[in-house]
Amino acid sequence: GSPVIEVKQLHTSFMTDDGEIPVVSGIDFHVNPGEVLGIVGESGCGKSVTSLSVMGLVPSPNGRVKGEILFKGENLASASEKRMRQIRGNEIAMIFQEPMTSLNPVFTIGEQLTESLRIHRKWNKKQAMARAVEMLKLVGLPRAEELVKEYPHQLSGGMRQRVMIAMAMICDPTLLIADEPTTALDVTIQAQILELMKKLNKETDTAIMMITHDLGVVAEMCERIVVMYAGKIVEEGDVKTIFQNPKHPYTVGLIQSVPDMREKKERLYSIPGNVPKPGSIQQGCHFAPRCAHAMAQCLEETPALKSFDNGQQVRCWLYEDGKGAAANDTAIG
Ligand code: SF4
Ligand code: MG
Repeated sequence: GSPVIEVKQLHTSFMTDDGEIPVVSGIDFHVNPGEVLGIVGESGCGKSVTSLSVMGLVPSPNGRVKGEILFKGENLASASEKRMRQIRGNEIAMIFQEPMTSLNPVFTIGEQLTESLRIHRKWNKKQAMARAVEMLKLVGLPRAEELVKEYPHQLSGGMRQRVMIAMAMICDPTLLIADEPTTALDVTIQAQILELMKKLNKETDTAIMMITHDLGVVAEMCERIVVMYAGKIVEEGDVKTIFQNPKHPYTVGLIQSVPDMREKKERLYSIPGNVPKPGSIQQGCHFAPRCAHAMAQCLEETPALKSFDNGQQVRCWLYEDGKGAAANDTAIG
């Protein structure tokens, strides 16, 4: 079917004392029904601002969102705050890394779980509470009937994240946006939460936009990925292709930074340098200061996204007109 969401030429910037700072600079992507799309990059690449833009949560008056965010044919980039409140938590749900939207300590789990049903669906308390219990069971929490009467501090971090997932899924959203949903959890709990999200994705057909810096999460969850660097998409394609044959030097670096479970390597490669401050690079490829393959042209001209026959897309001068060596031919020592 047609995409659940289609983002076209999204530009998000912030007005500061130093002028307008671009954080997301003209990105295009879509999520198909029931699909899990990974949006990947280091922190500061613009991926969280992308998710905030989609949800209409870019803080005003300093934030500016331009472009199209088409959700079921409606452009959310120009929707009113009133309209966005109808969509958020209902048709588009979100889960964050815990600190951002931890549960409210003064309300019971049940009160918080039922809120969106009562607001968006006008369900009565009894109906909504029965659905809350059902959702807690669905996300694998024990003693669901008692749990709805308890407060967040009575739960472990892993249990709280299950509650957040239950809360996100309770209105049966078309799209779930998950921003680093497992980053704050320990490794064992992380794996369980990813398992749960995979299961829910299969059973409910909710599409997921998975925002993460962790390629392990991507390998586990996603069918397709978009790699972001400095506010732009630098590579896109299906996960298998990109893991086997990454083309952009940034993607190559990210993949070489993933711990190899089989070899139990002690030292990991990490990409030298840092993500540039938004707006600090005016011309050329924004990855050039960190790129071992940078050429004179890279400093002057910004490469465009180039498509390959297998659907992979890459933004790098190495792949213009078949010239230059592939970035992944060079061993990094
Ligand atoms: Fe490196 Fe040049 Fe490709 Fe940018 S365009 S990633 S600097 S080779
Ligand atoms: Mg982030």
